[in-house]
Amino acid sequence: MSVRVRYAPSPTGSPHVGNVRTALFDYLLARRFGGQFIIRLEDTDRTRFIEGCEEEILESLRYIGITWDEGPDVGGPNAPYRQSERKEAGLYEPVIKQLLESGHAYYAFETSEELTEMREFQQINKQPTGYFGGNWRDAAPEKVAAAQAEGKPGVIRLRMPRDQRLVIQDAVRGRVEIDGSTQDDPVLIKADGMPTYHFAAMVDDHLMGITHVIRGEEWISSAPKHVWLYEVLGWEQPMWVHVPVINGKDGKKLSKRHGDTRCLDYRDAGYVPGALANFIALIGWAPGDDRELMSMEEMSSLFSVESLNGSPGIFDPDKLIWMNGHYLRAMDAATLRQMVLDYAKRPSTHAYWNEREEGAAMLAGLKLLVDAEAAGDPRLDAALRLEQERVTTLAEFGPACAFFFAPQPELDEKAVEKWFGEAHVAPLFANLDQWLSEQGENPTQAEIEAFLKAQVDVLGVGKLGPIVHPTRVAMTGRTYGPGLWELMEVLGRDRMRERIAHAQTQLR
Ligand code: GLU
Repeated sequence: MSVRVRYAPSPTGSPHVGNVRTALFDYLLARRFGGQFIIRLEDTDRTRFIEGCEEEILESLRYIGITWDEGPDVGGPNAPYRQSERKEAGLYEPVIKQLLESGHAYYAFETSEELTEMREFQQINKQPTGYFGGNWRDAAPEKVAAAQAEGKPGVIRLRMPRDQRLVIQDAVRGRVEIDGSTQDDPVLIKADGMPTYHFAAMVDDHLMGITHVIRGEEWISSAPKHVWLYEVLGWEQPMWVHVPVINGKDGKKLSKRHGDTRCLDYRDAGYVPGALANFIALIGWAPGDDRELMSMEEMSSLFSVESLNGSPGIFDPDKLIWMNGHYLRAMDAATLRQMVLDYAKRPSTHAYWNEREEGAAMLAGLKLLVDAEAAGDPRLDAALRLEQERVTTLAEFGPACAFFFAPQPELDEKAVEKWFGEAHVAPLFANLDQWLSEQGENPTQAEIEAFLKAQVDVLGVGKLGPIVHPTRVAMTGRTYGPGLWELMEVLGRDRMRERIAHAQTQLR
């Protein structure tokens, strides 16, 4: 039987890293075994529905490079792929009918006040909370008929077995046995006629031929109910795969306090798809050796549910930064240029940085790159190439490359204080300007190197540092950056002379 997996998000909030990881595991498993990956929207809880959420979910998956074979946008043989539409299509009705007829489901008519009272009573008396039968599990059929005739709003609940153990075969945890008496009777159909997750997800998983249910560990406590549903319906169970939670490096559950958690925030912060996919897949999964850097193809050739880790995955932002830097450095010039420019132009990049303190510098730098492209500035590729070795996100290309394109670099005050008061700096700038004025065209990096190295003796400073540092400050505004000769060649003669002229006004 071919592998069929599904990612079944509820459109109730922005997808975060944990959600996308589940989808990625689904995708990798389907690709590994030549199976199908299905997306199904679980949108039956209309009170929690958020407009635009479905689009964001699909966009998050697309960004990191996940594709799917069936889903709400692409259709497929199991359409529709939104549960609200499946409800409209009457897909749940025959199943609930079957459960009611066989006695495995029953109507219950408690009001919400009665349910609250029941819960409070259980809490005060230190009993397990939940619906363990109430007034309706064993109600006579006439009583039910009377309530229905009165038009009382009622729900349909699953009759859980009280006298047997329920067994879950989980790919990560192995065999889990739970005493049926601990399980309350979940609602399958709500008073408004909508199916609950417990019911709709199981019916859909069955109808869609799902072979592996990969989902968050928070669902394991509900798994006995799901196992029981499959059993009483006489359906073959899927393989259950409950993936552990993701924690921050402090061992606490990943949350806002650890930084961005919304998946698209990582796109907007400047992480590239390959690095994000690689990073997310390795939170809780390892291919069995020390390998860390893997393309989607490599990961999908190695993935298996058996190799998922049973303990919580750790979200390590430093590792993501390291990986992203690696992916950036591995890019060819054309791809890099395209990625940086797409990033700089994307409205969501601007929305992201506008909300952040350091955002103005990022956006100002990125704008210079977009302008350079529009002007056909040949320095663009060279600037990107030189900074490619150093930056770790697409966003950083903005401020890192800004000095190439700004009319004058912003001079770092500390660096100016440190260098521009040295006695040899005025003659150094004068000599450099003089030499540049004699160049018929832009000097090469070798010529620049030879000239500046000769200044060590000319000015009697004994070593290269006192020549290189103030020159770098004049050219770039700062004390770090790519190789000085290379960047000077990229700036070109005239721009170098303008920068020296400006630096000369700043001498101390
Ligand atoms: N709709 C559920 C959620 O978003 C899906 C859980 C599952 O994959 O079964 O958490």
